[in-house]
Amino acid sequence: MHNKALVLFSGGQDSTTCLAWALERYTHVETIGFDYGQRHLVELACRQTVLDKFRTEYPQWGAGLGEDHMLDLRLLAQISDTAMTNDRAIVMEKNGLPNTFVPGRNLLFMTFAAAVAYRRGITVLVGGMCETDYSGYPDCRDDTLKALQVTLGLGMAQRFVIETPLMWIDKAQTWAMADKLGGDSLVDLIREDTHTCYLGDRSHKHDWGYGCGQCPACQLRAKGYGEYLDGKLMR
Ligand code: ZN
Repeated sequence: MHNKALVLFSGGQDSTTCLAWALERYTHVETIGFDYGQRHLVELACRQTVLDKFRTEYPQWGAGLGEDHMLDLRLLAQISDTAMTNDRAIVMEKNGLPNTFVPGRNLLFMTFAAAVAYRRGITVLVGGMCETDYSGYPDCRDDTLKALQVTLGLGMAQRFVIETPLMWIDKAQTWAMADKLGGDSLVDLIREDTHTCYLGDRSHKHDWGYGCGQCPACQLRAKGYGEYLDGKLMR
Protein backbone atom coordinates (compact mmCIF):
# COMPACT_ATOMS: atom_id res chain seq x y z
CA MET A 1 0.00 0.00 0.00
CA HIS A 2 2.75 2.47 0.97
CA ASN A 3 4.76 2.03 -2.24
CA LYS A 4 4.34 5.55 -3.63
CA ALA A 5 5.84 8.68 -2.15
CA LEU A 6 5.61 12.42 -2.71
CA VAL A 7 8.82 14.29 -1.85
CA LEU A 8 8.79 17.96 -0.85
CA PHE A 9 11.61 18.99 -3.13
CA SER A 10 13.15 22.47 -3.11
CA GLY A 11 16.42 21.86 -4.93
CA GLY A 12 18.50 22.22 -1.76
CA GLN A 13 20.94 19.73 -0.26
CA ASP A 14 18.47 18.28 2.23
CA SER A 15 15.56 17.66 -0.12
CA THR A 16 17.87 16.29 -2.83
CA THR A 17 19.20 13.75 -0.32
CA CYS A 18 15.59 12.94 0.67
CA LEU A 19 14.67 12.42 -2.99
CA ALA A 20 17.49 9.89 -3.48
CA TRP A 21 16.46 8.21 -0.19
CA ALA A 22 12.86 7.92 -1.42
CA LEU A 23 13.86 6.60 -4.85
CA GLU A 24 15.78 3.79 -3.11
CA ARG A 25 12.68 2.81 -1.12
CA TYR A 26 9.54 3.40 -3.14
CA THR A 27 8.60 2.10 -6.56
CA HIS A 28 7.04 5.41 -7.62
CA VAL A 29 8.16 8.84 -6.42
CA GLU A 30 6.69 12.20 -7.36
CA THR A 31 8.00 15.62 -6.36
CA ILE A 32 6.34 18.84 -5.27
CA GLY A 33 7.82 22.33 -5.12
CA PHE A 34 6.51 25.70 -4.04
CA ASP A 35 7.07 29.12 -5.49
CA TYR A 36 6.41 31.43 -2.55
CA GLY A 37 8.15 34.56 -3.71
CA GLN A 38 11.59 33.51 -2.50
CA ARG A 39 14.10 36.31 -2.62
CA HIS A 40 15.99 34.24 -5.13
CA LEU A 41 14.76 31.97 -7.80
CA VAL A 42 18.14 30.23 -7.83
CA GLU A 43 16.81 27.32 -5.81
CA LEU A 44 13.93 26.76 -8.21
CA ALA A 45 16.37 26.62 -11.16
CA CYS A 46 18.55 24.17 -9.22
CA ARG A 47 15.63 21.85 -8.56
CA GLN A 48 14.99 21.49 -12.30
CA THR A 49 18.66 20.67 -12.94
CA VAL A 50 18.66 18.04 -10.19
CA LEU A 51 15.46 16.43 -11.52
CA ASP A 52 16.90 16.34 -15.07
CA LYS A 53 20.14 14.74 -13.86
CA PHE A 54 18.32 12.17 -11.73
CA ARG A 55 16.35 11.16 -14.83
CA THR A 56 19.32 11.00 -17.21
CA GLU A 57 22.33 10.03 -15.09
CA TYR A 58 20.74 7.60 -12.62
CA PRO A 59 18.66 5.11 -14.64
CA GLN A 60 17.82 3.08 -11.53
CA TRP A 61 16.25 6.20 -9.96
CA GLY A 62 14.96 7.79 -13.17
CA ALA A 63 12.67 4.82 -13.76
CA GLY A 64 10.81 5.46 -10.50
CA LEU A 65 10.73 9.24 -10.77
CA GLY A 66 7.27 10.43 -11.75
CA GLU A 67 5.55 13.75 -12.17
CA ASP A 68 6.82 17.02 -10.70
CA HIS A 69 4.17 19.32 -9.21
CA MET A 70 4.92 23.03 -8.90
CA LEU A 71 2.51 25.09 -6.84
CA ASP A 72 2.25 28.85 -6.83
CA LEU A 73 2.17 29.92 -3.16
CA ARG A 74 3.26 33.50 -3.68
CA LEU A 75 0.40 34.58 -1.43
CA LEU A 76 2.76 33.63 1.44
CA ALA A 77 4.62 36.87 0.74
CA GLN A 78 1.40 38.75 1.53
CA ILE A 79 1.07 37.25 4.98
CA SER A 80 4.70 37.29 6.07
CA ASP A 81 7.33 39.94 6.45
CA THR A 82 10.55 38.01 6.64
CA ALA A 83 14.09 37.93 5.33
CA MET A 84 13.19 35.01 3.05
CA THR A 85 10.70 36.96 0.99
CA ASN A 86 11.96 40.54 1.31
CA ASP A 87 15.33 42.19 0.92
CA ARG A 88 16.13 42.41 4.60
CA ALA A 89 19.12 41.43 6.68
CA ILE A 90 18.93 38.10 8.52
CA VAL A 91 18.78 38.75 12.28
CA MET A 92 17.61 36.92 15.40
CA GLU A 93 14.27 38.08 16.77
CA LYS A 94 13.46 38.45 20.46
CA ASN A 95 11.70 35.08 20.52
CA GLY A 96 14.94 33.31 19.55
CA LEU A 97 13.86 32.62 15.95
CA PRO A 98 15.73 34.06 12.96
CA ASN A 99 13.66 36.45 10.83
CA THR A 100 13.93 33.89 8.01
CA PHE A 101 11.07 32.08 9.77
CA VAL A 102 7.87 32.21 7.72
CA PRO A 103 5.08 31.39 10.20
CA GLY A 104 3.18 28.26 9.26
CA ARG A 105 5.13 27.67 6.07
CA ASN A 106 5.96 24.02 6.58
CA LEU A 107 2.44 23.33 7.85
CA LEU A 108 1.05 24.80 4.62
CA PHE A 109 3.58 22.96 2.45
CA MET A 110 2.77 19.61 4.05
CA THR A 111 -0.98 20.25 3.83
CA PHE A 112 -0.79 21.16 0.14
CA ALA A 113 1.44 18.14 -0.45
CA ALA A 114 -1.16 15.90 1.22
CA ALA A 115 -3.90 17.38 -0.96
CA VAL A 116 -1.89 16.61 -4.10
CA ALA A 117 -0.93 13.16 -2.77
CA TYR A 118 -4.58 12.38 -2.04
CA ARG A 119 -5.51 13.00 -5.69
CA ARG A 120 -2.49 11.02 -6.93
CA GLY A 121 -3.17 7.96 -4.77
CA ILE A 122 0.01 8.53 -2.76
CA THR A 123 0.12 7.91 1.00
CA VAL A 124 3.73 8.71 1.94
CA LEU A 125 4.96 12.32 2.24
CA VAL A 126 8.72 12.86 2.53
CA GLY A 127 10.25 16.07 3.90
CA GLY A 128 13.78 17.18 4.78
CA MET A 129 12.84 18.70 8.14
CA CYS A 130 15.47 18.28 10.83
CA GLU A 131 15.60 18.96 14.54
CA THR A 132 19.32 18.41 15.02
CA ASP A 133 21.18 21.50 13.80
CA TYR A 134 18.22 23.49 12.51
CA SER A 135 17.36 27.15 13.04
CA GLY A 136 14.73 26.41 15.67
CA TYR A 137 11.76 26.60 13.30
CA PRO A 138 8.94 25.10 15.40
CA ASP A 139 7.26 23.61 12.32
CA CYS A 140 10.37 21.47 11.64
CA ARG A 141 9.98 19.64 14.94
CA ASP A 142 9.24 15.94 15.01
CA ASP A 143 6.25 16.44 17.33
CA THR A 144 4.76 19.08 15.01
CA LEU A 145 5.00 16.75 12.03
CA LYS A 146 3.66 13.74 13.94
CA ALA A 147 0.68 15.86 15.04
CA LEU A 148 0.19 17.04 11.46
CA GLN A 149 0.30 13.45 10.20
CA VAL A 150 -2.60 12.61 12.50
CA THR A 151 -4.47 15.79 11.54
CA LEU A 152 -4.10 15.20 7.80
CA GLY A 153 -5.20 11.59 8.17
CA LEU A 154 -8.32 12.61 10.09
CA GLY A 155 -9.09 15.61 7.90
CA MET A 156 -8.86 13.68 4.64
CA ALA A 157 -10.07 10.33 5.96
CA GLN A 158 -7.00 8.65 4.56
CA ARG A 159 -3.92 7.36 6.30
CA PHE A 160 -0.80 9.41 5.55
CA VAL A 161 2.74 8.65 6.66
CA ILE A 162 5.12 11.61 6.95
CA GLU A 163 8.72 10.43 6.58
CA THR A 164 11.54 12.74 7.69
CA PRO A 165 14.80 10.81 7.10
CA LEU A 166 16.98 13.73 8.25
CA MET A 167 15.13 14.47 11.49
CA TRP A 168 17.77 13.16 13.91
CA ILE A 169 20.98 13.57 11.93
CA ASP A 170 23.29 16.56 11.48
CA LYS A 171 24.62 18.10 8.26
CA ALA A 172 27.76 15.92 8.24
CA GLN A 173 25.56 12.83 8.47
CA THR A 174 23.35 14.20 5.67
CA TRP A 175 26.42 14.38 3.41
CA ALA A 176 27.33 10.85 4.51
CA MET A 177 23.80 9.66 3.71
CA ALA A 178 24.12 11.03 0.16
CA ASP A 179 27.46 9.26 -0.15
CA LYS A 180 25.89 5.98 0.96
CA LEU A 181 22.94 6.38 -1.41
CA GLY A 182 24.75 7.52 -4.54
CA GLY A 183 28.49 7.54 -3.86
CA ASP A 184 30.84 10.27 -5.00
CA SER A 185 28.71 11.12 -8.04
CA LEU A 186 25.70 12.06 -5.88
CA VAL A 187 27.92 14.03 -3.48
CA ASP A 188 29.38 15.88 -6.49
CA LEU A 189 25.90 16.56 -7.89
CA ILE A 190 24.83 18.01 -4.54
CA ARG A 191 27.95 20.20 -4.39
CA GLU A 192 27.48 21.46 -7.94
CA ASP A 193 23.74 21.61 -8.54
CA THR A 194 21.94 22.14 -5.23
CA HIS A 195 21.57 25.45 -3.50
CA THR A 196 21.40 26.38 0.17
CA CYS A 197 22.64 29.99 0.51
CA TYR A 198 20.03 32.41 1.87
CA LEU A 199 21.45 35.22 -0.27
CA GLY A 200 21.15 33.28 -3.53
CA ASP A 201 24.88 33.67 -4.22
CA ARG A 202 26.02 31.43 -7.10
CA SER A 203 29.16 33.42 -7.89
CA HIS A 204 31.41 32.02 -5.15
CA LYS A 205 32.40 28.36 -5.45
CA HIS A 206 33.67 26.42 -2.45
CA ASP A 207 34.50 22.74 -2.01
CA TRP A 208 31.01 22.28 -0.49
CA GLY A 209 29.19 24.13 -3.28
CA TYR A 210 28.16 27.66 -4.22
CA GLY A 211 27.22 30.41 -1.77
CA CYS A 212 28.21 33.57 0.05
CA GLY A 213 29.99 31.49 2.71
CA GLN A 214 28.77 33.86 5.44
CA CYS A 215 25.05 33.34 5.96
CA PRO A 216 23.83 30.75 8.52
CA ALA A 217 22.83 28.28 5.78
CA CYS A 218 26.25 28.46 4.09
CA GLN A 219 28.07 28.10 7.41
CA LEU A 220 26.02 25.05 8.38
CA ARG A 221 26.59 23.43 4.99
CA ALA A 222 30.34 24.19 5.01
CA LYS A 223 30.80 22.91 8.57
CA GLY A 224 28.90 19.72 7.81
CA TYR A 225 30.89 19.08 4.66
CA GLY A 226 34.19 19.55 6.53
CA GLU A 227 33.12 17.11 9.25
CA TYR A 228 31.89 14.62 6.66
CA LEU A 229 35.27 14.74 4.85
CA ASP A 230 37.15 14.32 8.15
CA GLY A 231 34.99 11.29 8.96
CA LYS A 232 35.60 9.84 5.50
CA LEU A 233 39.38 10.22 5.86
CA MET A 234 39.35 8.45 9.22
CA ARG A 235 37.56 5.41 7.84
ZN1 ZN B 1 25.13 32.11 1.99
